[in-house]
Amino acid sequence: MRIAADRDRCIGVGHCVRTAPDLFDSGEDGRVSVRNSEPDESRAEDVRTAVRLCPNAAISLLEDPTSGA
Ligand code: SF4
Repeated sequence: MRIAADRDRCIGVGHCVRTAPDLFDSGEDGRVSVRNSEPDESRAEDVRTAVRLCPNAAISLLEDPTSGA
């Protein structure tokens, strides 16, 4: 799985950082930066939660098409 972030869409609310601080961070401008764009599958639920909570659809989870998931 891979995390994609569109910093142009991010409005800096920070739900993603609070949900998974090991995966997301706030840059100096307050917008999201991805700390680990290819986390272990065990983190999928947290990533999905962050994606769901983001108010501006700035982050997305790309499932690995070769994993069969
Ligand atoms: S939840 Fe969305 S809008 Fe808020 S900081 Fe994260 S990516 Fe940006």
